[in-house]
Amino acid sequence: MTQIQPELTEDIKKYGAFDFTACYNCGNCTAVCNLTEKNSNFPRMMVRYSMLGLKEEILSSKELWMCYACGECSDTCPREAGPGALMANLRRYAIANYEKTGLTRLMFKNNPFFIAITLILAVVLTFFLLTIKPDTEVARWLFRYVPYEVLHSFGMGAFALMGLSALVGVIVMWRYIGKDKKIAFTGEFFKKAVNAAKEVIGEVATLKRYQNCDSDSSLWSKKAVWLRPWFVHWTIMWGFIGLLVATTLDFMFKDPATTIWWPSRILGTIAGILMVYGSTVALNYRFRKITKTYANTLLADWMFLGFLWLAGVTGFWLEVAVAMGADMLINHVVLMIHIVISMELVILFAFSKFAHAFYRPLALFMHHL
Ligand code: SF4
Ligand code: SF4
Repeated sequence: MTQIQPELTEDIKKYGAFDFTACYNCGNCTAVCNLTEKNSNFPRMMVRYSMLGLKEEILSSKELWMCYACGECSDTCPREAGPGALMANLRRYAIANYEKTGLTRLMFKNNPFFIAITLILAVVLTFFLLTIKPDTEVARWLFRYVPYEVLHSFGMGAFALMGLSALVGVIVMWRYIGKDKKIAFTGEFFKKAVNAAKEVIGEVATLKRYQNCDSDSSLWSKKAVWLRPWFVHWTIMWGFIGLLVATTLDFMFKDPATTIWWPSRILGTIAGILMVYGSTVALNYRFRKITKTYANTLLADWMFLGFLWLAGVTGFWLEVAVAMGADMLINHVVLMIHIVISMELVILFAFSKFAHAFYRPLALFMHHL
Protein backbone atom coordinates (compact mmCIF):
# COMPACT_ATOMS: atom_id res chain seq x y z
CA MET A 1 0.00 0.00 0.00
CA THR A 2 1.31 3.46 -0.91
CA GLN A 3 2.15 5.54 2.15
CA ILE A 4 2.24 9.31 2.00
CA GLN A 5 4.72 11.08 4.27
CA PRO A 6 3.88 14.81 4.49
CA GLU A 7 7.20 15.62 6.21
CA LEU A 8 9.18 14.16 3.30
CA THR A 9 9.28 17.42 1.30
CA GLU A 10 11.06 19.29 4.10
CA ASP A 11 13.36 16.34 4.76
CA ILE A 12 14.47 16.16 1.12
CA LYS A 13 15.26 19.88 1.10
CA LYS A 14 17.80 19.26 3.88
CA TYR A 15 19.89 17.32 1.36
CA GLY A 16 20.39 20.56 -0.58
CA ALA A 17 17.51 20.84 -3.09
CA PHE A 18 16.16 24.08 -4.47
CA ASP A 19 12.55 24.90 -3.79
CA PHE A 20 11.14 22.16 -5.98
CA THR A 21 7.66 22.87 -4.56
CA ALA A 22 7.58 25.83 -7.00
CA CYS A 23 6.96 23.25 -9.76
CA TYR A 24 3.62 23.69 -11.56
CA ASN A 25 3.90 20.41 -13.42
CA CYS A 26 4.34 21.80 -16.93
CA GLY A 27 6.49 18.87 -18.08
CA ASN A 28 9.17 21.00 -19.75
CA CYS A 29 11.91 19.23 -17.79
CA THR A 30 10.86 15.84 -19.11
CA ALA A 31 10.64 17.21 -22.63
CA VAL A 32 14.21 18.56 -22.58
CA CYS A 33 15.81 15.58 -20.83
CA ASN A 34 17.61 13.47 -23.42
CA LEU A 35 17.71 10.46 -21.12
CA THR A 36 14.06 10.08 -20.22
CA GLU A 37 12.44 7.11 -21.93
CA LYS A 38 8.97 6.13 -23.08
CA ASN A 39 7.92 4.61 -19.77
CA SER A 40 10.05 6.64 -17.40
CA ASN A 41 8.69 10.12 -17.19
CA PHE A 42 11.46 11.85 -15.27
CA PRO A 43 12.43 14.22 -13.73
CA ARG A 44 8.85 15.53 -13.51
CA MET A 45 7.58 12.29 -11.97
CA MET A 46 10.25 12.47 -9.26
CA VAL A 47 9.26 16.07 -8.50
CA ARG A 48 5.67 14.90 -8.03
CA TYR A 49 6.72 12.01 -5.80
CA SER A 50 8.75 14.42 -3.67
CA MET A 51 5.91 16.93 -3.37
CA LEU A 52 3.39 14.22 -2.50
CA GLY A 53 5.65 12.56 0.06
CA LEU A 54 5.84 9.18 -1.71
CA LYS A 55 8.95 7.80 -0.06
CA GLU A 56 8.56 4.18 -1.21
CA GLU A 57 8.16 5.23 -4.84
CA ILE A 58 11.32 7.32 -4.63
CA LEU A 59 13.44 4.65 -2.99
CA SER A 60 12.34 1.97 -5.44
CA SER A 61 12.54 4.03 -8.61
CA LYS A 62 14.81 3.27 -11.53
CA GLU A 63 14.63 6.88 -12.74
CA LEU A 64 16.74 8.03 -9.82
CA TRP A 65 19.72 6.20 -11.30
CA MET A 66 19.08 7.05 -14.95
CA CYS A 67 19.81 10.75 -14.49
CA TYR A 68 23.41 11.97 -14.80
CA ALA A 69 22.86 15.43 -13.33
CA CYS A 70 23.64 17.32 -16.56
CA GLY A 71 21.36 20.16 -15.37
CA GLU A 72 19.69 20.78 -18.74
CA CYS A 73 16.24 20.49 -17.13
CA SER A 74 17.13 22.95 -14.33
CA ASP A 75 18.45 25.49 -16.85
CA THR A 76 15.12 25.51 -18.70
CA CYS A 77 12.60 25.14 -15.87
CA PRO A 78 10.25 28.16 -16.05
CA ARG A 79 9.72 28.05 -12.27
CA GLU A 80 13.39 27.62 -11.33
CA ALA A 81 12.36 24.57 -9.33
CA GLY A 82 15.73 22.87 -9.95
CA PRO A 83 14.52 19.44 -11.10
CA GLY A 84 18.09 18.36 -11.91
CA ALA A 85 19.30 19.41 -8.46
CA LEU A 86 16.36 17.55 -6.97
CA MET A 87 17.38 14.35 -8.78
CA ALA A 88 20.88 14.63 -7.28
CA ASN A 89 19.31 15.27 -3.88
CA LEU A 90 17.06 12.29 -4.15
CA ARG A 91 20.05 10.07 -4.86
CA ARG A 92 21.67 11.39 -1.65
CA TYR A 93 18.39 10.87 0.17
CA ALA A 94 18.09 7.31 -1.17
CA ILE A 95 21.67 6.37 -0.24
CA ALA A 96 21.12 7.81 3.26
CA ASN A 97 17.95 5.73 3.63
CA TYR A 98 19.50 2.49 2.34
CA GLU A 99 22.47 2.87 4.69
CA LYS A 100 21.26 1.94 8.17
CA THR A 101 23.86 3.25 10.66
CA GLY A 102 22.60 6.83 10.15
CA LEU A 103 26.16 8.03 9.42
CA THR A 104 25.43 8.86 5.79
CA ARG A 105 22.37 10.88 6.77
CA LEU A 106 24.45 12.91 9.21
CA MET A 107 27.30 13.39 6.73
CA PHE A 108 24.98 14.70 4.02
CA LYS A 109 22.83 16.88 6.24
CA ASN A 110 25.26 18.18 8.81
CA ASN A 111 28.41 19.85 7.48
CA PRO A 112 30.14 20.36 10.88
CA PHE A 113 29.66 16.65 11.59
CA PHE A 114 31.12 15.76 8.18
CA ILE A 115 34.19 17.94 8.80
CA ALA A 116 34.60 16.65 12.36
CA ILE A 117 34.46 12.97 11.38
CA THR A 118 36.94 13.55 8.54
CA LEU A 119 39.39 15.30 10.89
CA ILE A 120 39.03 12.72 13.68
CA LEU A 121 39.64 9.93 11.18
CA ALA A 122 42.68 11.75 9.81
CA VAL A 123 44.19 12.09 13.31
CA VAL A 124 43.50 8.44 14.22
CA LEU A 125 44.88 7.17 10.91
CA THR A 126 47.99 9.33 11.27
CA PHE A 127 48.67 7.88 14.72
CA PHE A 128 47.97 4.43 13.37
CA LEU A 129 50.58 4.91 10.63
CA LEU A 130 53.11 6.40 13.04
CA THR A 131 52.81 3.33 15.23
CA ILE A 132 53.28 0.73 12.51
CA LYS A 133 56.89 0.44 13.67
CA PRO A 134 56.32 -0.09 17.42
CA ASP A 135 59.93 0.76 18.34
CA THR A 136 59.73 4.42 17.24
CA GLU A 137 59.65 7.34 19.67
CA VAL A 138 56.06 8.26 18.69
CA ALA A 139 54.85 4.69 19.09
CA ARG A 140 56.40 4.32 22.55
CA TRP A 141 54.88 7.65 23.66
CA LEU A 142 51.45 6.83 22.26
CA PHE A 143 51.28 3.27 23.59
CA ARG A 144 51.67 4.64 27.13
CA TYR A 145 48.19 6.15 26.71
CA VAL A 146 46.47 4.05 24.04
CA PRO A 147 47.43 0.38 23.76
CA TYR A 148 48.38 -0.81 20.28
CA GLU A 149 45.52 -3.33 20.33
CA VAL A 150 42.98 -0.49 20.77
CA LEU A 151 44.34 1.40 17.75
CA HIS A 152 44.53 -1.75 15.67
CA SER A 153 41.00 -2.82 16.64
CA PHE A 154 39.67 0.64 15.82
CA GLY A 155 41.13 0.44 12.31
CA MET A 156 39.79 -3.05 11.71
CA GLY A 157 36.41 -2.05 13.17
CA ALA A 158 36.14 0.97 10.86
CA PHE A 159 36.83 -1.15 7.77
CA ALA A 160 34.40 -3.84 8.95
CA LEU A 161 31.69 -1.25 9.63
CA MET A 162 32.14 0.17 6.13
CA GLY A 163 31.89 -3.26 4.48
CA LEU A 164 28.90 -4.32 6.53
CA SER A 165 27.07 -1.03 5.96
CA ALA A 166 27.59 -1.29 2.21
CA LEU A 167 26.24 -4.85 2.24
CA VAL A 168 23.20 -3.96 4.35
CA GLY A 169 22.60 -0.90 2.14
CA VAL A 170 22.48 -3.05 -0.98
CA ILE A 171 20.10 -5.53 0.69
CA VAL A 172 17.79 -2.69 1.77
CA MET A 173 17.86 -1.25 -1.76
CA TRP A 174 17.05 -4.70 -3.15
CA ARG A 175 14.06 -4.94 -0.79
CA TYR A 176 12.69 -1.65 -2.11
CA ILE A 177 13.32 -2.42 -5.77
CA GLY A 178 12.29 -6.07 -5.62
CA LYS A 179 9.23 -5.73 -3.40
CA ASP A 180 6.11 -7.49 -4.75
CA LYS A 181 8.29 -9.34 -7.25
CA LYS A 182 8.66 -13.12 -7.04
CA ILE A 183 12.00 -14.56 -7.98
CA ALA A 184 12.54 -18.16 -9.09
CA PHE A 185 16.18 -19.15 -9.49
CA THR A 186 15.67 -20.92 -12.79
CA GLY A 187 17.87 -21.07 -15.89
CA GLU A 188 15.79 -18.24 -17.33
CA PHE A 189 16.62 -16.05 -14.30
CA PHE A 190 20.36 -16.61 -14.66
CA LYS A 191 20.18 -15.90 -18.39
CA LYS A 192 18.46 -12.61 -17.61
CA ALA A 193 21.04 -11.86 -14.93
CA VAL A 194 23.90 -12.33 -17.41
CA ASN A 195 22.19 -10.07 -19.94
CA ALA A 196 21.47 -7.45 -17.26
CA ALA A 197 25.11 -7.56 -16.10
CA LYS A 198 26.34 -7.12 -19.71
CA GLU A 199 24.00 -4.19 -20.23
CA VAL A 200 25.02 -2.42 -17.01
CA ILE A 201 28.77 -3.05 -17.43
CA GLY A 202 28.56 -1.71 -20.99
CA GLU A 203 26.73 1.38 -19.79
CA VAL A 204 29.02 2.07 -16.83
CA ALA A 205 32.21 1.40 -18.78
CA THR A 206 31.39 3.78 -21.64
CA LEU A 207 28.84 6.14 -19.99
CA LYS A 208 27.02 5.97 -23.33
CA ARG A 209 23.75 7.32 -21.90
CA TYR A 210 25.59 10.18 -20.21
CA GLN A 211 27.05 11.07 -23.61
CA ASN A 212 23.50 11.59 -24.87
CA CYS A 213 23.12 14.51 -22.46
CA ASP A 214 25.13 16.68 -24.87
CA SER A 215 22.17 17.88 -26.92
CA ASP A 216 22.79 20.22 -29.85
CA SER A 217 21.49 23.15 -27.81
CA SER A 218 23.56 22.48 -24.72
CA LEU A 219 26.63 24.47 -23.77
CA TRP A 220 28.71 21.30 -23.97
CA SER A 221 27.99 20.49 -27.59
CA LYS A 222 30.30 23.38 -28.55
CA LYS A 223 33.13 22.17 -26.33
CA ALA A 224 35.82 19.61 -27.14
CA VAL A 225 35.01 16.05 -26.05
CA TRP A 226 37.69 16.05 -23.35
CA LEU A 227 36.00 19.02 -21.63
CA ARG A 228 32.51 17.54 -21.56
CA PRO A 229 31.11 16.38 -18.20
CA TRP A 230 30.64 12.75 -19.29
CA PHE A 231 34.31 12.51 -20.31
CA VAL A 232 35.48 14.19 -17.12
CA HIS A 233 33.38 11.73 -15.10
CA TRP A 234 34.74 8.84 -17.19
CA THR A 235 38.37 9.83 -16.51
CA ILE A 236 37.76 10.09 -12.75
CA MET A 237 35.99 6.73 -12.67
CA TRP A 238 38.57 4.81 -14.74
CA GLY A 239 41.42 6.62 -13.05
CA PHE A 240 40.21 5.49 -9.64
CA ILE A 241 39.54 1.91 -10.79
CA GLY A 242 42.97 1.74 -12.45
CA LEU A 243 44.69 2.99 -9.29
CA LEU A 244 42.80 0.50 -7.15
CA VAL A 245 43.90 -2.37 -9.42
CA ALA A 246 47.50 -1.09 -9.61
CA THR A 247 47.74 -0.73 -5.81
CA THR A 248 46.34 -4.23 -5.28
CA LEU A 249 48.79 -5.72 -7.81
CA ASP A 250 51.71 -3.86 -6.23
CA PHE A 251 50.67 -5.08 -2.81
CA MET A 252 50.33 -8.68 -3.99
CA PHE A 253 53.38 -9.08 -6.19
CA LYS A 254 56.21 -6.76 -5.37
CA ASP A 255 57.70 -3.83 -3.56
CA PRO A 256 56.28 -0.84 -5.47
CA ALA A 257 59.36 1.28 -4.79
CA THR A 258 61.73 -0.63 -7.09
CA THR A 259 60.98 0.40 -10.70
CA ILE A 260 58.51 2.58 -12.55
CA TRP A 261 58.56 0.18 -15.55
CA TRP A 262 56.79 -2.63 -13.72
CA PRO A 263 53.37 -3.17 -15.45
CA SER A 264 51.37 -2.31 -12.34
CA ARG A 265 53.35 0.94 -11.97
CA ILE A 266 52.69 1.85 -15.61
CA LEU A 267 48.98 1.16 -15.05
CA GLY A 268 49.12 3.30 -11.89
CA THR A 269 50.77 6.20 -13.76
CA ILE A 270 48.19 6.19 -16.58
CA ALA A 271 45.31 5.85 -14.10
CA GLY A 272 46.78 8.63 -11.93
CA ILE A 273 46.97 10.98 -14.93
CA LEU A 274 43.31 10.25 -15.72
CA MET A 275 42.17 10.83 -12.15
CA VAL A 276 44.15 14.04 -11.61
CA TYR A 277 42.96 15.38 -14.97
CA GLY A 278 39.29 14.56 -14.29
CA SER A 279 39.22 15.85 -10.72
CA THR A 280 41.09 19.05 -11.69
CA VAL A 281 38.60 19.87 -14.47
CA ALA A 282 35.61 18.97 -12.28
CA LEU A 283 36.88 21.17 -9.42
CA ASN A 284 37.55 23.98 -11.89
CA TYR A 285 33.95 23.83 -13.20
CA ARG A 286 32.63 23.91 -9.66
CA PHE A 287 34.83 26.85 -8.63
CA ARG A 288 33.75 28.77 -11.71
CA LYS A 289 30.07 27.70 -11.30
CA ILE A 290 30.02 27.14 -15.02
CA THR A 291 26.39 25.88 -15.02
CA LYS A 292 23.60 25.75 -12.45
CA THR A 293 24.55 22.16 -11.66
CA TYR A 294 28.12 23.13 -10.82
CA ALA A 295 26.96 26.20 -8.91
CA ASN A 296 24.95 23.91 -6.64
CA THR A 297 28.01 22.19 -5.13
CA LEU A 298 27.69 20.80 -1.63
CA LEU A 299 30.40 20.06 0.91
CA ALA A 300 30.11 16.35 0.09
CA ASP A 301 31.01 17.13 -3.56
CA TRP A 302 33.97 19.33 -2.61
CA MET A 303 35.33 16.78 -0.16
CA PHE A 304 34.99 13.87 -2.55
CA LEU A 305 36.64 15.60 -5.51
CA GLY A 306 39.24 17.28 -3.30
CA PHE A 307 40.25 13.94 -1.76
CA LEU A 308 40.56 12.28 -5.17
CA TRP A 309 42.67 15.18 -6.45
CA LEU A 310 44.93 15.16 -3.39
CA ALA A 311 45.36 11.38 -3.52
CA GLY A 312 46.40 11.66 -7.20
CA VAL A 313 48.76 14.62 -6.81
CA THR A 314 50.51 13.24 -3.72
CA GLY A 315 50.85 9.91 -5.56
CA PHE A 316 52.76 11.64 -8.39
CA TRP A 317 54.86 13.58 -5.91
CA LEU A 318 55.93 10.27 -4.37
CA GLU A 319 56.58 8.77 -7.81
CA VAL A 320 59.05 11.57 -8.57
CA ALA A 321 60.60 11.43 -5.08
CA VAL A 322 61.17 7.67 -5.38
CA ALA A 323 62.63 8.00 -8.90
CA MET A 324 65.07 10.66 -7.61
CA GLY A 325 65.88 8.71 -4.44
CA ALA A 326 65.03 11.80 -2.39
CA ASP A 327 64.78 10.52 1.18
CA MET A 328 63.68 13.84 2.71
CA LEU A 329 61.29 14.65 5.58
CA ILE A 330 58.85 16.43 3.23
CA ASN A 331 58.45 13.25 1.19
CA HIS A 332 57.61 11.26 4.32
CA VAL A 333 54.96 13.86 5.20
CA VAL A 334 53.52 13.66 1.68
CA LEU A 335 53.50 9.85 1.94
CA MET A 336 51.56 10.16 5.20
CA ILE A 337 49.02 12.54 3.61
CA HIS A 338 48.66 10.21 0.61
CA ILE A 339 47.98 7.14 2.74
CA VAL A 340 45.63 8.93 5.17
CA ILE A 341 43.54 10.38 2.33
CA SER A 342 43.42 7.09 0.45
CA MET A 343 42.34 5.25 3.62
CA GLU A 344 39.69 7.88 4.37
CA LEU A 345 38.30 7.45 0.87
CA VAL A 346 38.01 3.71 1.46
CA ILE A 347 36.62 3.93 5.02
CA LEU A 348 34.04 6.57 4.06
CA PHE A 349 33.20 4.76 0.81
CA ALA A 350 29.79 3.53 2.00
CA PHE A 351 28.87 6.79 3.80
CA SER A 352 29.75 9.52 1.31
CA LYS A 353 29.09 10.67 -2.23
CA PHE A 354 31.41 7.85 -3.24
CA ALA A 355 28.64 5.35 -2.45
CA HIS A 356 26.88 6.19 -5.73
CA ALA A 357 29.67 4.26 -7.45
CA PHE A 358 28.19 0.97 -6.31
CA TYR A 359 24.52 1.88 -5.74
CA ARG A 360 23.99 3.12 -9.31
CA PRO A 361 25.25 0.04 -11.21
CA LEU A 362 23.61 -2.32 -8.72
CA ALA A 363 20.27 -0.48 -8.88
CA LEU A 364 20.33 -0.52 -12.68
CA PHE A 365 21.21 -4.23 -12.62
CA MET A 366 18.30 -5.00 -10.29
CA HIS A 367 15.90 -3.00 -12.44
CA HIS A 368 17.11 -4.73 -15.62
CA LEU A 369 16.37 -8.05 -13.96
S1 SF4 B 1 10.16 21.13 -12.50
FE1 SF4 B 1 9.95 22.97 -13.77
S2 SF4 B 1 9.99 22.22 -15.87
FE2 SF4 B 1 9.60 20.43 -14.56
S3 SF4 B 1 7.39 20.25 -14.50
FE3 SF4 B 1 7.96 21.50 -12.75
S4 SF4 B 1 7.82 23.60 -13.43
FE4 SF4 B 1 7.84 22.32 -15.27
S1 SF4 C 1 19.73 16.60 -14.87
FE1 SF4 C 1 19.94 16.03 -17.06
S2 SF4 C 1 19.75 13.79 -17.06
FE2 SF4 C 1 19.00 14.50 -15.09
S3 SF4 C 1 16.79 14.71 -15.35
FE3 SF4 C 1 17.70 16.73 -15.79
S4 SF4 C 1 18.04 16.77 -18.00
FE4 SF4 C 1 17.70 14.62 -17.41
